Amino acid sequence: MTNLENQKENIQLYSYVGSQEIFDAIDLKFTGYKILKINDIVSWIEKTSQELINDSVIATFIINENHQLVINDRHSEHVQCAGGKNVISAGEISFLIEKKDKISINEISNQSTGYCPKPESWKYVEKVLSKIGIEYPNDFTLAFDFRLCTNCQAINLIKEDIFECQVCANNLDSEWNFD
Ligand SMILES: [Zn+2]
Repeated sequence: MTNLENQKENIQLYSYVGSQEIFDAIDLKFTGYKILKINDIVSWIEKTSQELINDSVIATFIINENHQLVINDRHSEHVQCAGGKNVISAGEISFLIEKKDKISINEISNQSTGYCPKPESWKYVEKVLSKIGIEYPNDFTLAFDFRLCTNCQAINLIKEDIFECQVCANNLDSEWNFD
């Protein structure tokens, strides 16, 4: 999909909202690894010598503006995975590798304080995963609601419906507010 098509279909793009310091430290020429088919996951694991724990490997992921899954080492920033660009969703993804040809997604979340995507971005993630032909959960297995504190600019994760900034105790907006 092109950006014009994203606009036409009212698909929300998320721009980077994390620290400038992190942004300045990344090499924008480098992005993560595009996963277009299941075998791309195997190649990524081998090329980057990923360590499997309980037959699983966790990665950082983003969905790029062209509706493609892009992954990178779990210790890297989402903005690096995206090459500094806007995303359609972002978070953490865990692949369960039972055999080389039997790979599924056992966990996936929208945990990205660099982009703070809404839980609702799942519907686009799901379409991308379905195109790859991999098994995946019905929804984010862990979904976060992010809010920006308008007083101290801290990025907050809403827990137990408490809309109070964890840094300055200011009241947080009821709606997503990073635009
Ligand atoms: Zn605050």
